[in-house]
Parts: sequence; structure tokens; C-alpha cells
Amino acid sequence: MSRSQPIKLPDAKVKELKQLASPAEQAEEAEKAERREYMKLAQRASRERKAIRTISEFAQTEEQWHSEMRKTLPKEVRDQYEQQDAEVNSFMHWMAWGWEYADPNAPDFDPDLFISFEDGVKDLDAFIEKRGTIHDGHDYDSYELRRVRPVHAIWEDGSYSRLTKGLPRQWRKPYWRCPIRLEALTTEEGEPTRIHALYGYDVALSAYHVERWKTRVRVHPNHYDQVDFDRCWLCQYERFQQQKRTETDQLVAGTERQESI
Ligand SMILES: [Zn+2]
Repeated sequence: MSRSQPIKLPDAKVKELKQLASPAEQAEEAEKAERREYMKLAQRASRERKAIRTISEFAQTEEQWHSEMRKTLPKEVRDQYEQQDAEVNSFMHWMAWGWEYADPNAPDFDPDLFISFEDGVKDLDAFIEKRGTIHDGHDYDSYELRRVRPVHAIWEDGSYSRLTKGLPRQWRKPYWRCPIRLEALTTEEGEPTRIHALYGYDVALSAYHVERWKTRVRVHPNHYDQVDFDRCWLCQYERFQQQKRTETDQLVAGTERQESI
């Protein structure tokens, strides 16, 4: 005689029974779910620690360090970082080339694409407010990192070796090989810095880049007497507009000449 199959309840019935569950049972369910989520995060953190230990030993270049670390990320996390990285890139593009979209004579001119300097700075500040920054400039929260001098030795990746000569040994190592620096970068400087240090994704703007860009803009009035103004947004914009005006003047002058003939 075969044993009877377990009875399968219709979905509606299951839902009804669940609703009948006492508040105590519901609380227990919620607690279980919370524990599962906690375990998932703890497992991910443990996998990450193991990956750091193994990969930091053999990675010779920063590129190798990041590409191997990326392979350990779940796909949905990687996709999210990539999407945020692209968003950051569009701000970087505006800071470098945004003034170029202001040419009304360009065949593909789209007034919606041009973001003025004032609007751009507002967007930039709001984005920094929302996402924070990658700490790669002069300001650090960690006590250990505040002690590193010169400050660029924090992000030493092998390419500064000439500049870090004479420093304590551990500050001359690439940052992924130096447990003190890596620990500080991944636990004390906020999530964007952690993600940048471990995986090379930029989910927020680089503090160093923003600082440099804003300084150039702040001292812009002094640029009129200088030759080196190439990276200032306002210089580029004014020069661009000036060039457009000259071109238009020449065009108008040419037409007038033709008319007078
Ligand atoms: Zn300037």
C-alpha cells in the first residue's frame, strides 16, 4: 500500500492561513528573514576578506588587482557599480568638455544638451551631497591615513616609486599590499572609497579631481594674465565663445563685402 501524497493546498488557502498566524509567529518570521539577510551579508564579507588575502598577494598592477577582485562580485552588484560609474563619468565629461555643447551654429546643436556653468555646478554639488566622494585628495578621516606623508603615498600603486623613495617601507608598497592602508581605505573612508580601492569602480566623484577643478574655477579671474588656463571650464568657455564671435564677424564682414561689390 502506497503512502498518500501530501495534500497540496491552493494558493488562496495558504494565504488565508498565513493571515491567521499569530503576531508572535509573524514576528518570528520577520526575525528569521532578518537573520537570513544578516547571514548573506556576513558570508559576502567573509568571501571578500578571503579574496583580498589571495588576490593582494599575486596582483602586480592595480589593473590586475581590480580585475581579479571584480570577478568575485555577484553579477547584480557589479551591474549596479557599473551603472553608477557611468553616471560619474558623465559629470567628469561635463567638467572637462561641457562648454563645448554651447555652439548654436553646430549642426547637431541641442539646447537641452548644453548645461550652463551655473546649472552644472548646482548638479555637481547635489551629486556630491547625495553620493559623497572618493577620498583620494588631501582629506582623510582615518588617523593612520592622516599620518601618511606625502599624501599621494596613500594610493601608491607602483607608479609613484620615484616619488616615494626614502619613505617607510610599508608606504612604498602598493596600497593593496599594505594591510594598514587597505584596512583604513576600506573601513574608515566611506563606501565610495571602499569600492574604488577594492574594485576600481567610481560610484562617486574623486575628491582630488573636484578640488582641483573648483580651485581652477575659483582663481579664474587671474587666468587672464596666465598662459596655463587649459583646464579651467570658464577659460575654455570664454575662449570658445570668443572664437565663435570672431568667426561670425568674419562671416558677416565677408557678406557685407560681397554685397558692396
Ligand atoms: Zn580660467
